[in-house]
Amino acid sequence: MSNQHLLTNELTELDKKHFIHPTSSIKEQQENGPAVILKEGHGVYVTDINGKTYIEGMASLWNVNVGYGRKELAQAAKEQMEQLAFSSCFATFSNEPAIRLAAKLAEITPGDLSAVFFTSGGSESNDTAYKLVRHYWKLKGYPNKTKIISRKKAYHGVAIGATSATGIQDFQNMTTALAPEFIHADTFSADSVREIIEREGAENIAAFLAEPIQGAGGVNIPPDGYFQAIRKICDENNILFIADEVITGFGRTGKMFACEHWNVVPDVMLIAKGITSGYIPLGAVVLREKLHRDLIQLSEGTLLHGFTYSGHPTACAVALRNIQIIEEENLVENARLMGEELHKQLKMLQSELPIVGEVRSLGLIGALEIVKNKQTNERFEKKLAPIIIHEARQRGLILRTVTFGDADTIVFSPPLVINKQEIEKMFQILRDSIIAVM
Ligand code: PLP
Repeated sequence: MSNQHLLTNELTELDKKHFIHPTSSIKEQQENGPAVILKEGHGVYVTDINGKTYIEGMASLWNVNVGYGRKELAQAAKEQMEQLAFSSCFATFSNEPAIRLAAKLAEITPGDLSAVFFTSGGSESNDTAYKLVRHYWKLKGYPNKTKIISRKKAYHGVAIGATSATGIQDFQNMTTALAPEFIHADTFSADSVREIIEREGAENIAAFLAEPIQGAGGVNIPPDGYFQAIRKICDENNILFIADEVITGFGRTGKMFACEHWNVVPDVMLIAKGITSGYIPLGAVVLREKLHRDLIQLSEGTLLHGFTYSGHPTACAVALRNIQIIEEENLVENARLMGEELHKQLKMLQSELPIVGEVRSLGLIGALEIVKNKQTNERFEKKLAPIIIHEARQRGLILRTVTFGDADTIVFSPPLVINKQEIEKMFQILRDSIIAVM
């Protein structure tokens, strides 16, 4: 047996015995071990321990925006670690990278979003926001304003609050969601939100929560006018609007933040993922100036909410350098331009292949539906998207599926550094894979 085989076997056995994978089938993992053990990455490509190279069509989990192998980010982490790897920001302590990153986020987020609470990821950002908005209303003299309206098909993470806000039933089935406090509106219906407010009473509702584009729920892009209507409803009913830009932030949709497509400024913005392009965990909750001012004015005593790693200097230093790369290399504009290529390719697949139904995309986030019948939208009994992406992986392309409910969907979210040739290559592999399983 070659050394390579020995290494693969050793890692596979250790993985099966000791490693519980996130969001995975525990049984399948026990039977088969990990399908891919990755070793390195460069640009839009990743390579496994056997030397096989793949295009990362998902930027891993929608997050490696600046692509793999960026030495500048390794350098930023190294320099900060050597200088001051970590220090807490509890109480009166602070550090320069956290201060500068907070100021930078205030500069690049829309409108008067300007005050930043740091977390370590998207789920923490969500649970933090739910606590902060409730705390806010309590201070304002509305202790009953506690409920949160989120939406069907939403994904907000796996902390207990974030799971409850998530509108994909499968996630909630695993455990008991905090159901009465989270109400799920129809995905793109402002009327559904109005009905919930009427039924529950605005005096009991703290916030409306939405991803500008639903990611894990299948890349669902709202019609024009929807978020403008939502903003108005929130204002009229004294309800805060929380935008979860964990996937859509930092250039993914061809704007720095997706809310900008509809000229809407949320009261609270949640970010993570692309803030460091995944090079190190970090998230944040960004508040509008007025909210921040009210909190300052009304607060008494200690804000009893903070993570050990809130304001982690190394994570913040990496984020600053990451944002600098996004700006210097015009990656937001590249996402817009390459997004047009991606859309063209999706349309071509749709016109060429009988089983490609609806396609949708904005910037470098997109999806296609696998259907048995394009006219009726009828689905195959056995879902094909998982088989297609398995085939694509064999051929050197990593993609993901959405298969909740009756969905049979393939989703796309490549690194923002992708070029036209790489998009063409990605779609050639996908086309061959679909034809192979059709
Ligand atoms: N919010 C959205 C919109 C997400 O897509 C995700 C993760 O995919 C999260 C929150 C949770 O983020 P994390 O996995 O960093 O906790």
